Amino acid sequence: AKALVRVEGLKMHFPVYKGLFVRKEVRRVRAVDGLTFEIYDGETLGLVGESGCGKSTTGRSIIQLYTPTEGRVFFEDEDLTKLSPAEMHKKRRDIQMIFQDPYASLNPRMTVGDIIAEPLRVHNLAKGDEVDRQVQELMTIVGLDPRYVRRYPHEFSGGQRQRIGVARALASKPKFIVADEPISALDVSIQAQIMNLLNDLQEEFGLTYLFIAHDLAAVRHISDRIAVMYLGRMAELTDADTLYEKPLHPYTEALISAVPIPDPEVEATRKRIVLEGDVPSPLNPPSGCVFHTRCPYAFERCKKDVPDFREVEPGHWVACHLTDEPERRDGVDPTES
Ligand code: SF4
Ligand code: MG
Repeated sequence: AKALVRVEGLKMHFPVYKGLFVRKEVRRVRAVDGLTFEIYDGETLGLVGESGCGKSTTGRSIIQLYTPTEGRVFFEDEDLTKLSPAEMHKKRRDIQMIFQDPYASLNPRMTVGDIIAEPLRVHNLAKGDEVDRQVQELMTIVGLDPRYVRRYPHEFSGGQRQRIGVARALASKPKFIVADEPISALDVSIQAQIMNLLNDLQEEFGLTYLFIAHDLAAVRHISDRIAVMYLGRMAELTDADTLYEKPLHPYTEALISAVPIPDPEVEATRKRIVLEGDVPSPLNPPSGCVFHTRCPYAFERCKKDVPDFREVEPGHWVACHLTDEPERRDGVDPTES
């Protein structure tokens, strides 16, 4: 598979300042702390992790809404971190974003038509009647009645507003879309509709998605591959089926044990892995493996050495010392920790 996006050693640290007049940096939030991975052309890569693990920051750093502290982001082999603001502005034609809260991300004073037309105007893609024609077409594509073109966002339901956000993202005919929890704020009954819409659009337009979500259940059916993040680092990345059937990272194992199973009999007898404690603060992440404070398998080495994120079998990436010493799993029942 060919990489459309290549992330190398991405770090995003946010400084924390003290002092009213003379601002002094006192600490750094290590929101994203060294990620290396690829997003293949035409795929959906699901990016999953608890809130605060850095997944949104990762999405925003990739599309250069944030300037990464360290690392490089290649899009079609071009390093986005080296582009001038004007060059990056041009690139945004190809790289778009869909936001979690379709209400907050749509200007309430603009009509739906103007919202969807904005990328066309900003990138000079259409003029006059052609703008109206394309807006109508985009509305139809995302399942909105084009007769509502002069209405305002508040006149639409949550699901329809997300469709407006999708139409806006599509307007410039992008290649790559970062969808940051696009269904989390929607009613469960609407979620599947938006997922199906995104899936159909991907097929029709050959789009590549980075699909960010806080739970695995939401990404399973849309993702070709899934990446799991914990505290600013990658824990595991592989194709969706392998991740579910053969997770290698203890954190992934715990997340999967929490995904509900539709069969009530299986669900009733199933044991869950309950992780102790909370996610530590990214201000002061644990030494060694950042997951060691909660890992049922943790051993001495985990407190000292940071596990490399490496390919342990073709296409399966894991950051865990157990891949060197699998026998350490023997006799540990993670559902009883
Ligand atoms: Fe657990 Fe150690 Fe693996 Fe980290 S490296 S996930 S602490 S076993
Ligand atoms: Mg797909």
